[in-house]
Amino acid sequence: MSSLLGHLIDACAATIVEHTDELTTLDQAVGDGDHGLNMKRGFEAVALDREATASLDPGGALQKAGMTLVMKVGGASGPLYGSLLIAMGKAMSEPPQDVGDVARALAAGVEAVKARGKSHSGEKTMLDVLVPVAGALAEADGLRDAIERVPTAADRGLESTRDMKATKGRASFLGERSIGHLDPGARSSQLLVHAVCHVFKGETGG
Ligand code: ADP
Ligand code: MG
Repeated sequence: MSSLLGHLIDACAATIVEHTDELTTLDQAVGDGDHGLNMKRGFEAVALDREATASLDPGGALQKAGMTLVMKVGGASGPLYGSLLIAMGKAMSEPPQDVGDVARALAAGVEAVKARGKSHSGEKTMLDVLVPVAGALAEADGLRDAIERVPTAADRGLESTRDMKATKGRASFLGERSIGHLDPGARSSQLLVHAVCHVFKGETGG
């Protein structure tokens, strides 16, 4: 089993479980309050498959985890996170050799979210984190640079959703009243990005 893949699964599941109540509260403000439990259900299922998933190559592991999220998360976010991981996994036909390979896979994943959600950045969704994160990763000069810039891009992206008016998903039903709240899916994306970067930071010994 790849210990890196196992650590990534553990870190992602742990941050979602730890922040379930916060995600619920955010979704109560602009949606229907289920984002915390949706994500917890999905990532607990991914963690349950940990051994089998981590025994696969990175592309296969991403696709397997993505399919679990589609099946278990439900809501709008399940198919969107599922599309992200499945498209990333398909883009990794070979294990990534460098940050550039991971950046290209993430770019493919983000395009899949846009296609599935018929959405783009600026609409107060997870894409307001994922798009700048993919941009920061594409510009990164090696792993150490990536783990510096990517979490910062995620934080800025999350914060940018506060003043946006939602035009996609349930939050769009609120119109102007969605302004002033962080988007729950943007927060879960930012949490996952931080968890992944934290694991890679450990890998570099930094
Ligand atoms: P639901 O909205 O069905 O209750 P969740 O609460 O689990 O599902 O997920 C809501 C999150 O999904 C939102 O905060 C937003 O980030 C994301 N989302 C919803 N619709 C879209 C879309 N069309 N494109 C991108 N992200 C979206
Ligand atoms: Mg919801």
